[in-house]
Amino acid sequence: MEDCIFCKIINNEASSWKVYEDDLVIAIFDIYPASVGHTLVIPKEHYIDIYDIPEDLAGHITKVCKRVALNLKKTLGVEAVNLIQGSGKSAQQDVFHFHMHVIPREENDDFKLYYQPRHDIKQMFDELLEKIKKERV
Ligand code: ZN
Repeated sequence: MEDCIFCKIINNEASSWKVYEDDLVIAIFDIYPASVGHTLVIPKEHYIDIYDIPEDLAGHITKVCKRVALNLKKTLGVEAVNLIQGSGKSAQQDVFHFHMHVIPREENDDFKLYYQPRHDIKQMFDELLEKIKKERV
């Protein structure tokens, strides 16, 4: 896709720090890192989000995320990692080419993943489960 920064990186029209590459994906350092080693795993083909990407490719990306995480663990000596993927503007997706964040974590680092649990939602579980079962793909 023409205006996509990840497509430009994949086509060597923009620079990056590539830490992994195979036939289907690349892994690069995030240019706006949340921590040392923050890496993005990106399919070479342009897919917008989790709704768009083929299931097999999503599975391969998860495998590569594991390899990247293990490599960062060995390299940096970190014991924790977050895998984060945003699909859609409301989920804070910033580049609309599917990508998975691999974010090494350290005790007391500045990165926060926090939400206030919505206990009122528990009352909807039975109804929600029935709806999901009807629409299951
Ligand atoms: Zn793209």
